[in-house]
Amino acid sequence: MDTFVQWLMLAVAIGVGWLLGYTAKKKAYSGVDPALPSNLKDRLKILFDTYSEEVIDSFVQSLEVTSETVGMHLSIGSHFRKNGEVEKAILVHQNLMSRPEVPKSYADEVMFELARDYMAAGLLDRAESLFLQLNESRSFGSKSLKWLVDIYQQERDWDRALEYGVRYHAQKGVDISVMLAHFACELAEKLVEQHHYWDARNKLREALGFDRGCVRANLLLAKIHMAEGHYSEAVVVLRKVEGQDTRFVPEAIPLLHECSKYLKTESKFRHYLEGLLVKNDSSSVILGIADSYNRELGVLEAEKFLEGTLLKKSSLKGLDRLVDYQSVNAVSESDIRHLMIIKRVTQSLLDGKPVYRCESCGFAGELLHWQCPSCKEWGVVTPIQGVEGE
Ligand SMILES: [Zn+2]
Repeated sequence: MDTFVQWLMLAVAIGVGWLLGYTAKKKAYSGVDPALPSNLKDRLKILFDTYSEEVIDSFVQSLEVTSETVGMHLSIGSHFRKNGEVEKAILVHQNLMSRPEVPKSYADEVMFELARDYMAAGLLDRAESLFLQLNESRSFGSKSLKWLVDIYQQERDWDRALEYGVRYHAQKGVDISVMLAHFACELAEKLVEQHHYWDARNKLREALGFDRGCVRANLLLAKIHMAEGHYSEAVVVLRKVEGQDTRFVPEAIPLLHECSKYLKTESKFRHYLEGLLVKNDSSSVILGIADSYNRELGVLEAEKFLEGTLLKKSSLKGLDRLVDYQSVNAVSESDIRHLMIIKRVTQSLLDGKPVYRCESCGFAGELLHWQCPSCKEWGVVTPIQGVEGE
């Protein structure tokens, strides 16, 4: 069997060798891109599919590094990485890096592939150092910037993520403006924690410069105004959320309510929500209006409004609140008992229900993550709509 395998290997090696020679000659004449032709990749695929890992290992070790075989080494390395055998990939690429006979035209590609191996192995500092060296590379500079942005995100180094993100964003055909806005917001959040409101505001303006639709920036800007006691300014900013993305209005309502308490503008707050209701009949808007009626005009007015709204739009949260209002004036024992039963059902349906869902991967949870914890995309987690949601 061993002999048979060796013979087969030899046959494949001869075939690949012939093709490498042919490619090298063709390249010498045309001076084209050093990328491998697809039929060589096909031949390598046959090698990987047909032989055991041990045979491939010994084949790689016995294969000399020459200008003709560099492409093959690179393909074998990337095969190992794709198969999760990162250590083997690192050995193949490190071997190439240490060889002075590797042609200059391949040097950047070898370094890039080794950096990707380090990424796959979680060795971020080593990957970072190689990607930084490739910054000026014509073929791999832009790709390296993308990976650097990824590394700095993983390390939560938002200053560098923003710096390299801006450089990557400037590349032709690249648009990561939503991501850049969130990097600026991350920095602003840190500044807010340190009470550096002036700098935080500047970072948030920068965020809105990248992405005018960045709801997070306006919510944070409003919180800064509120921390400084500037409630009217906060209201102006919070009312912009509707125009940015109406699905996020529920995030602004509790803050608007807080501002109205300090400004003593309960009815103004309610009128604003009533105006919104025409375009946005989310549970938060409906409950915001009902609660405002309850505070200013009493529970019967709140009940009347909520009943009328629930006849037009089914909402579990609305029903739950209606039970609360009706319980206030319930007198008979049977009414109180019935309301208690309904309340128990609505609460058990609402408890533990996810409130937000990622539009990209479907991840659902009770917290609003600006970066999806599952697919790592930015700005894709939104409040869940429907009878049980908004
Ligand atoms: Zn996701």
